[in-house]
Amino acid sequence: MRPSDTIARLGGDEFAILLESLRDEKEATRIADRIQLGLSQPFTVGDQEVFTAASIGIALSADGHQKAEDLLHGADSAMYRAKALGKDRYEIFDRGMPNGDGELLHLETSLRRGLERKEFRIHYQPIVSLASGLITGCEALLRWQHPERGLLRPSEFIPVAEETGVIIPISEWILRAVCQQAKDWQNQGFPPIRACVNVSPRQLREPNFFDVVSEVLVDTGLDPWFLQLELTENSLLDNADATIKPLVKLYTKGVQISLDDFGTGYSSMMHLRRFPISALKIDECFIREITTDAADAAIATGLILLAHSLELKVIGEGVETPEQLKFLQGQKCDEVQGHVISPPVEVEAFSKLLHRRELLLTRLEPSLSLFED
Ligand code: C2E
Ligand code: MG
Ligand code: MG
Repeated sequence: MRPSDTIARLGGDEFAILLESLRDEKEATRIADRIQLGLSQPFTVGDQEVFTAASIGIALSADGHQKAEDLLHGADSAMYRAKALGKDRYEIFDRGMPNGDGELLHLETSLRRGLERKEFRIHYQPIVSLASGLITGCEALLRWQHPERGLLRPSEFIPVAEETGVIIPISEWILRAVCQQAKDWQNQGFPPIRACVNVSPRQLREPNFFDVVSEVLVDTGLDPWFLQLELTENSLLDNADATIKPLVKLYTKGVQISLDDFGTGYSSMMHLRRFPISALKIDECFIREITTDAADAAIATGLILLAHSLELKVIGEGVETPEQLKFLQGQKCDEVQGHVISPPVEVEAFSKLLHRRELLLTRLEPSLSLFED
């Protein structure tokens, strides 16, 4: 670099270079080429030759009005695009990108970085059989341990991940991690439970959805029977063959499929006929007033009857009180999930719950505390 240029290390393996008074874009790309050429030479470390490469993002302050942060975000986004397009190359920010989505791009970049830096966590929430009181499954719920904003709930970042497509690598990561965890629990001698994973609408539309799930099952050695995919009604809206076929293939393999948040989306009884479904999850919004609101009680009761006559299992979600639990038990709901049993917890805490399998019995007996050892 020239003495007038500024070079900074932003952290880890990321560096920023500020080039002032460039004449045009070409000058920037020429410098990027030069940096890449320089870095393509092997380094000697001890008596070893080490090779490296750089993905470079370039942002230009064309109009002279941009804030420093915007320039850095732009370069950052372009750098991630360079990485995504095959690494060891440069990309220029802004080309053909619509204006005004700088914030979105920034979020996309921090999501990708979060994945790279292993900032995502999985919390597990037990699903308990109302007949036996035993844990029969768990739902994996995504959390993001954000370096500045703390632990984030899915509602704070899944919509952006969905919009930008980052949901695809995130979903693949969580699917693999959960199947591995379920298999690990089996290997540790716990009775096998179903691992439920939420599937995003975008993920479902990926042409390789079936292959990804199959590959994860083979790699982790988890019996398909113990994987349950949770779909929402809205992701089934288009009713396209392209969506149905992979689901039928997975179902035939033994993978369980449930309809999540049932009754809150564009509920269509067609879904129940056309899609291979093994369970319905009654949304928390119907459960909340189940013991105080006659309409909610009727809806929940009706849904349970409907599901049972279609030979589907029913899972009540967001169950918070022993009264709600008793109501669902009375209506022959099959399973429940909710704070009355346990909130979603980290993997170590969930292993402890597995040690004490009879969760419901302890829950109906308030004098016993779940976390007492
Ligand atoms: P969901 O699949 O319907 O998950 C159930 C939500 O209910 C979870 O919220 C859970 O923490 C919450 N919950 C559990 N017990 C209770 C309770 O007793 N009372 C109440 N009020 N709520 C309870 P969370 O973890 O914030 O997740 C929200 C949504 O984000 C999920 O809804 C799911 O649609 C989505 N999500 C979570 N993880 C993933 C993921 O890995 N991939 C995708 N695509 N979506 C995910
Ligand atoms: Mg779910
Ligand atoms: Mg739900």
